[in-house]
Amino acid sequence: MNKPTILVVEDDVPVRCLITTTLKTHGYKYLTASNGETAIMMTTSHNPDIMLLDLGLPDIDGIEVIRSVRTWSNLPIIVLSARSEDSDKIEALDNGADDYLTKPFSVDELLARLRVTQRRLNLLASDGINSPVFVNGPLKIDFSAGCVWLSENELHLTHTSLTQKVWGSTQENDIASLRVYMASLRKKLERCPDAPHLIQTHVGVGYRMLRVENDEA
Ligand code: CA
Repeated sequence: MNKPTILVVEDDVPVRCLITTTLKTHGYKYLTASNGETAIMMTTSHNPDIMLLDLGLPDIDGIEVIRSVRTWSNLPIIVLSARSEDSDKIEALDNGADDYLTKPFSVDELLARLRVTQRRLNLLASDGINSPVFVNGPLKIDFSAGCVWLSENELHLTHTSLTQKVWGSTQENDIASLRVYMASLRKKLERCPDAPHLIQTHVGVGYRMLRVENDEA
């Protein structure tokens, strides 16, 4: 990921200017909001990568901003606040904030926290966890839509029954069930189920999906 876009939510003009000047100097892109409602709106419309959020805002409390954003977004939120009481920090973290900086904070500390958050975002992106669509050769899984395609054909997989029957129960025939379901999954996914290219069996370990090029499987 390049330098992330930061949404700076702060009603105190000198503090906001200090933050934006720091971000600008270090090559970050940024957006600003001076109250909670605008912050929520801008999160929806501009999809920033990280939010720096003051808790004491003129319209709604910063905690309300976190609660609202968390109903639909995992955007990292670093709270900035003059409140130094532990209970405020705990409330912000419990409601979904990722990190906390108590004012007055040093510019170097702010930059360090941003780097930590950015590293975590990069890790998530490289793991594909952040990506709603997983692509492996001809196989495409859209996690948010709950759909699977193989070479543009949608597959109808009984995902719920698979996870419930294999991992959600303690029945003795779990392993047998797993084999049956894997065989059925291979029939749907593999060109040649007897010589699987996508899902390999590792004896004594389990199954793993192999990365394939687009026309290999
Ligand atoms: Ca404030």
